[in-house]
Amino acid sequence: MALAHTLGFPRIGAKRELKIALESFWRGDSEQHQLQTTGSLLRQRHWQQQIDAGLDFVTVGDFAWYDQVLNTLALLGAIPERFKFKPSELTLSDYFTLARGSDKLHAMEMTKWFDTNYHYLVPEWTSNTTFEGGVNWLYEELTEAQKLKHPTKVVLIGPLTLLYLGKIKANADQTKLKHALDLLPRVLAAYQNVLKRLQQLGVHWVQIDEPILSLDLASEWLNAFLPSYNLLSQNAPKLLLATYFGAVNDHADLLHSLPIDGIHLDLIRGQNQLAAFTQNWPTGRVLSAGIIDGRNIWRADLDNCLEQLQPLHHQLGAQLWIAPSCSLLHVPVDLNNESTSITLDAEVKSWLAFATQKLNELALLKSALGTDRDALNSDVRQQFSDARIALDKRKKSARIHNNIVQNRLKELRTSDAHRQSAFAERIAAQAEKWQLPLFPTTTIGSFPQTKQIRQSRAAFKRGEIDNLTYLNQMRDEIRHVVEQQEKLGLDVLVHGEAERNDMVEYFGEQLWGYAFTEFGWVQSYGSRCVKPPIIYGDVYRPEAMTVSWSQYAQSLTSKPMKGMLTGPVTMLQWSFVRNDQPRSTTALQIALALRDEVQELEQAGIGMIQIDEPAFREGLPLKQKEWAAYLNWAVHAFRISSCGVTDQTQIHTHMCYSEFNDILPWIAAMDADVITIETSRSDMELLEGFGEFNYPNDIGPGVYDIHSPRIPTVLEMEKLLRKAREVIPDARLWVNPDCGLKTRNWPETIEALKNMVTAAQLLRAEV
Ligand code: GLN
Ligand code: ZN
Repeated sequence: MALAHTLGFPRIGAKRELKIALESFWRGDSEQHQLQTTGSLLRQRHWQQQIDAGLDFVTVGDFAWYDQVLNTLALLGAIPERFKFKPSELTLSDYFTLARGSDKLHAMEMTKWFDTNYHYLVPEWTSNTTFEGGVNWLYEELTEAQKLKHPTKVVLIGPLTLLYLGKIKANADQTKLKHALDLLPRVLAAYQNVLKRLQQLGVHWVQIDEPILSLDLASEWLNAFLPSYNLLSQNAPKLLLATYFGAVNDHADLLHSLPIDGIHLDLIRGQNQLAAFTQNWPTGRVLSAGIIDGRNIWRADLDNCLEQLQPLHHQLGAQLWIAPSCSLLHVPVDLNNESTSITLDAEVKSWLAFATQKLNELALLKSALGTDRDALNSDVRQQFSDARIALDKRKKSARIHNNIVQNRLKELRTSDAHRQSAFAERIAAQAEKWQLPLFPTTTIGSFPQTKQIRQSRAAFKRGEIDNLTYLNQMRDEIRHVVEQQEKLGLDVLVHGEAERNDMVEYFGEQLWGYAFTEFGWVQSYGSRCVKPPIIYGDVYRPEAMTVSWSQYAQSLTSKPMKGMLTGPVTMLQWSFVRNDQPRSTTALQIALALRDEVQELEQAGIGMIQIDEPAFREGLPLKQKEWAAYLNWAVHAFRISSCGVTDQTQIHTHMCYSEFNDILPWIAAMDADVITIETSRSDMELLEGFGEFNYPNDIGPGVYDIHSPRIPTVLEMEKLLRKAREVIPDARLWVNPDCGLKTRNWPETIEALKNMVTAAQLLRAEV
């Protein structure tokens, strides 16, 4: 009989209980013991769910108060020196100081966990970093599970992944660690202690996660695996080495050679990697088959899973384990909490599986393996048949297949992805039309989202105010935003985005093919969760989405008013995406919807249109050899959305970061007339690539860091602009903040923009 387990379960709680408890504790509204009780109840609930579903272990160690990497550092005692905490005496408050900073100390840096939308805290390595043991939380959680008589498996982030994810920092005395691997002996000693302790506590299995194996790994990292695991496997519980987020078949020989007791493979993202492993599978070794998608919300095709698992089961028998492809951290907790809504009706709901449902799918597969269909108990048979029927209905549903969209996709021509003329001609036509000064000033789109705006949006959504009242409130806000911009003397204006709660949700709600959940929260970092929309069908725009707002805003001013849209790649990237067609096809459908919007904006007299793509870089595959394929379709989708306009219409795009050097040819290929990017925090250094590359089109490197309440001075921004002028020709240079201003308040915004406009004027006077 195969075993079933999960690599991890979401810790935030089906109703975001952990978030609520954390934030109450941080505000000082509750005591530490209350927070601890919530944590403990959540762990117990999640373990019980695993047992009730029929899994063979509960997973201990996937819980974290803020982040799993930070928990690992707390366990090992590898606390960044600058905080001056004694690792073995680290308190929960200290832990939160590491994560969130304090008056005096900035928080640890945060970055994306592989290609997910989860953010971890980046370890800070120096030559003084020690790993001499820290908190006992993991052992306490283990005892908690054991007291409940649960069979347990402990999960740890592997030592090589941990080292790899950290950043090398200078020591106080300015000596610098040469390579993170120089810390390996210390880290391994710490892991050995942890494993020994777990063994003493009666743990049989430890799942040790090494997801870096699915990256392009330099040889020094690969070479470190064998010696490391030779050490770790001594006097330790059995080790299940978990890989995920991609195929690792390039390392099959290496992985076979490790003295471990099992290996987990991601069979969703690394679909075709099995053969490389099963040919000479080491005797006695467990294969954990990651067969249920841990990154998406679709109900599994159980028959197909079974078909894949049967031969493995035949070969491995009890050495076969069944699991989700990766931790379930990346999907919402429980579909059963969703009441049916207009977009998420019973039909769409029947196609989905959240973490809780996925546990059940694992258990079903386990009970069906090795048993004749006819011998299965009727309940299991029924559930298989329900899944089959739902899948079949999904395949045929009219909700998914829209002929209009599919025909348009077929009819797309190459010319649809090209502007009428090349940039040089377009920009001349645009210059003649707009007569903008040198170094034109603009903003990225949103203006402060005041409490009043939020309240009015929420009241409208709840049906407490009628259409007309809402329309007037939003128009008042637009009028205010336009007046302020005119007063400031900005050259290209925006309407301020008051009507938008979120830049993806706002559009998704107006498109067909999108569904929204009520509780579909996924942890993004700490207590912060996001609720990604679900794209289930062909994306279709039944009517204009932004035209009336932009048109109204333009009617208030003689200056150009930028229309404001979210781009196809970002719409895709920040949603759960259908798995029954390639991502590129879905992106193209969204692009077509946007193309229509762009053209309608143009017809309505909006002559500048910004299509935001903040998530463009996020979509890059983990392995570099897959980059070009992604970039090609991503650029194509952007061009389909933006190229349906005349030469005079100016297309802008915006990306909230500045690391472009490795993808500049594709950024240029997007062929937006103007791109605005972030650079102020890097002191314009990251702009140099654009200069070296001779980036051809207009560019607005952000001169005002909107992420901080600090108001930049005229001089500061002038300096940044001078730096920018060294690499960007004057005629191509725009002046703007880093990103949208929705998180700032009005007084800050006015002051900062005033200074920004002055800086641009000073520069103009010199030319
Ligand atoms: N137009 C959006 C805004 O100004 C862009 C936000 C973003 O890039 N994340 O808020
Ligand atoms: Zn931005």
